[in-house]
Amino acid sequence: MEAFVLQALAPHLFFYQRTKGIYPLSLDLRLCCLRILTILITHKVTPVVRSLAPRRKPKSKGYITYHLANPYANIAPMSYNSLSLKVDIIVIGGGIAGLWAINRLTQLGYQALLIEHQALGSGQTIKSQGIIHGGLKYALNGILGLDGAAIQDMPGRWQACLKGEGELDLRAVELLSPYQYLFSTRSLTAQLAQSFAQFTLQGKVDALNSADYPNFFQAAAIKGKILRLEEMVLNVPSVIKTLAKLSEPYLLKIDRLTENSWLRNQAQELEGLELQNGQQRLKLLADCILMTAGSGNAEMLQCFPSPTPRMQHRPLQMSVAKFSEPYEVFAHCMDGQSAPRLTITTHRTEAGETVWYLGGRLAEEGVQRSQSEQIKATELELKTLFPNMPFSNLSCSAFRVDRAEAWQHDGKKPALPTLYEMEKIIIAWPTKLAFAPLLADLIIDSLTKKNILPTHRAMDLTALQTWPKPLIAKPLWEE
Ligand SMILES: Cc1cc2nc3c(=O)[nH]c(=O)nc-3n(C[C@H](O)[C@H](O)[C@H](O)COP(=O)(O)OP(=O)(O)OC[C@H]3O[C@@H](n4cnc5c(N)ncnc54)[C@H](O)[C@@H]3O)c2cc1C
Repeated sequence: MEAFVLQALAPHLFFYQRTKGIYPLSLDLRLCCLRILTILITHKVTPVVRSLAPRRKPKSKGYITYHLANPYANIAPMSYNSLSLKVDIIVIGGGIAGLWAINRLTQLGYQALLIEHQALGSGQTIKSQGIIHGGLKYALNGILGLDGAAIQDMPGRWQACLKGEGELDLRAVELLSPYQYLFSTRSLTAQLAQSFAQFTLQGKVDALNSADYPNFFQAAAIKGKILRLEEMVLNVPSVIKTLAKLSEPYLLKIDRLTENSWLRNQAQELEGLELQNGQQRLKLLADCILMTAGSGNAEMLQCFPSPTPRMQHRPLQMSVAKFSEPYEVFAHCMDGQSAPRLTITTHRTEAGETVWYLGGRLAEEGVQRSQSEQIKATELELKTLFPNMPFSNLSCSAFRVDRAEAWQHDGKKPALPTLYEMEKIIIAWPTKLAFAPLLADLIIDSLTKKNILPTHRAMDLTALQTWPKPLIAKPLWEE
């Protein structure tokens, strides 16, 4: 019907543009109104009339202009490339939790799409050190209790995936190191041996002879025993890239969700999401909405009446050190306290430089420092721990980042991944990158209990062919 209105107006608009005089315009406008009214009455249209209301401009211009408001303004379905689709599950957030989940879900036969408003991994995942913990670090601070068995299974599950024999084919993922080493600033051999006794028995911890120390530790003349922990370190960008490639057809880049994005039916039941990317719109209905958006989960939950599941942030100020030598170190430095004094992982920039990514207590305590203080503290720490090593052209930088996880009454790290259910929504935090496989198990259990089962029907995504895909986030040292 709007087309009829435009059709009626078109010749008069043209006439108006060529005419500045008041008389011909008024006459024309009268004709125009008459014709529109006839059409409106015939077609019983009313809303469009509002957009045709004349607005008087300042008289000083010497003539009256009639401003036609954009006739498309109220007619989104016609003007946007608007689509509608129904799936089993919408996954919100493409960090490790969402990417692992979408791969497992689609593999099981669920119809699922993942939506990401920035780049994949751009929350905590790209900033993680990529250590696949097996609980060895936690053995030190005695929290290896109930979750012990769960975390101990994780390296095995990841390893199977890296070999192409696990639940997901991660053969394209780059293994940076098969081990994480543990060295101490004091003679802590006895304490370490005690903490790791159970793992030493399982062959997961080796006390190395000095001849077997990695090159860097030999050159740095580290005193005391060095332990080798069976905890591999992965190149995180390659993890994100591989998971994204496996699930590529099911990934959508979206504009930021707003509180109006949540679609409810007349009974106020959640039905899905109205998505947008530039001029494209998609009404996406689903049986379940999975929130794996890290910090974004809390932001989205603000759109729902409380009480909603709570989240906590544990902040860090991580450091990146660049230098000329190609030192390769994957290690925790212990100094008698339960948390590592320093955790070092080594990475290569796109330009081929070596960088050390530094966490541990340096990053935890660094939250209290300004950025420049943290940079100075990092330089001092490297020179204190490794006085024999030159670190030529050392340049350090520091970045604040929050760990986002389920709320704990004591503010400490949750022992396990956490999942909550609310309406049609599952809210999930993995707690650790390493826990992504376990979190996916919990999600699948939850869906099964809700009787949301795989439909095993292929999704027809042809209508989404032009919908943009999210990019992959860059590591801190490339920013
Ligand atoms: C500095 C640091 C080092 C770490 N090192 C390790 C480690 O070595 N080993 C380990 O196991 N764990 C480590 N972790 C923990 C691990 O990184 C996190 O537990 C894990 O990455 C969390 O993943 P996630 O998918 O839940 O969230 P995130 O990685 O934060 O991903 C959330 C995604 O959701 C998107 N998003 C947010 N809101 C919306 C929205 N409204 N709509 C659409 N998309 C949205 C974001 O853009 C982002 O891409 C580390 C964490 C930090 C901070």
